[in-house]
Amino acid sequence: MTRTVVITGGGTGIGRAVAAAFASDGAAVVITGRRADVLDTAKAELGGDVRTVVCDSSDVEQVEALAASITGQVDVLVNNAGGNRDLERGQGGLGAAMPAAKPSSLHALAQAWRANLESNLISAVITTAALSERLATGGAVINIGSFAADRGAGSYGAAKAGMASWNIGLARELGARDITANVVVPGYIADTEFFRGRMSDEFHAARVAETMTKRAGCPDDIAGVVQFLASPAARQITGQVINVNGGALTTR
Ligand code: NDP
Repeated sequence: MTRTVVITGGGTGIGRAVAAAFASDGAAVVITGRRADVLDTAKAELGGDVRTVVCDSSDVEQVEALAASITGQVDVLVNNAGGNRDLERGQGGLGAAMPAAKPSSLHALAQAWRANLESNLISAVITTAALSERLATGGAVINIGSFAADRGAGSYGAAKAGMASWNIGLARELGARDITANVVVPGYIADTEFFRGRMSDEFHAARVAETMTKRAGCPDDIAGVVQFLASPAARQITGQVINVNGGALTTR
């Protein structure tokens, strides 16, 4: 039977590689994102059974509309949408956007934190809740975390760390319905919109140096693990955080 797979943020980078993997497997794939043109390009290039839905994953009404647009059951949900809003504003590296102890403005600090918590954590929470009743027995929820969670990386790291905590309760709840829930934690993936053109050569070299494989990860590294977690071979893996980071060791 054809599996239905929903991938938030599936138009670019890691999400797109995940979409390609499932589409070439014959699944009916739904990719979401905020930019229609990016989704249309991805659909045209991916081929297969791919449908696009413009949806801001942190917007309740848009997430409800996404859920309403999907007929039938969902076998696999990949909560991949996200990004570091501080980096997008040109602030912060792996560290906090603003000094945590002495911010220049509490309003600006609160706003920056809300943006990352909404994009990276609340988005996954509400998308999963909206689709929860539709998740098929034997299905899988896969949440995309980040290596930033372990590095004190401000609001972005906190959001991704929160995702790992939330996932434990989610796995417990869904386990009774024979649905797994795991977090896949990418290490440094150089070639996506997330970091491309934003970081220095020194930053890149340092991230590669801390891996055991001596290379940056690529979106396909993550897609392969996501595909495995959604396969029959992984039915007893749930509530886990799975690092895909080339064995990166850090001193924090
Ligand atoms: P990309 O920027 O290429 O992918 C992020 C995707 O999410 C984009 O397609 C973007 O599309 C979409 N997106 C962002 N915010 C929203 C939103 N609110 N609603 C819907 N879609 C959204 O980067 P990556 O592929 O690298 O990132 C994918 C995931 O991997 C992210 O969750 C990121 O935090 C995580 N990650 C990445 C790492 C890396 O090194 N690159 C390392 C660790 C984790 P649009 O802007 O059109 O909405």
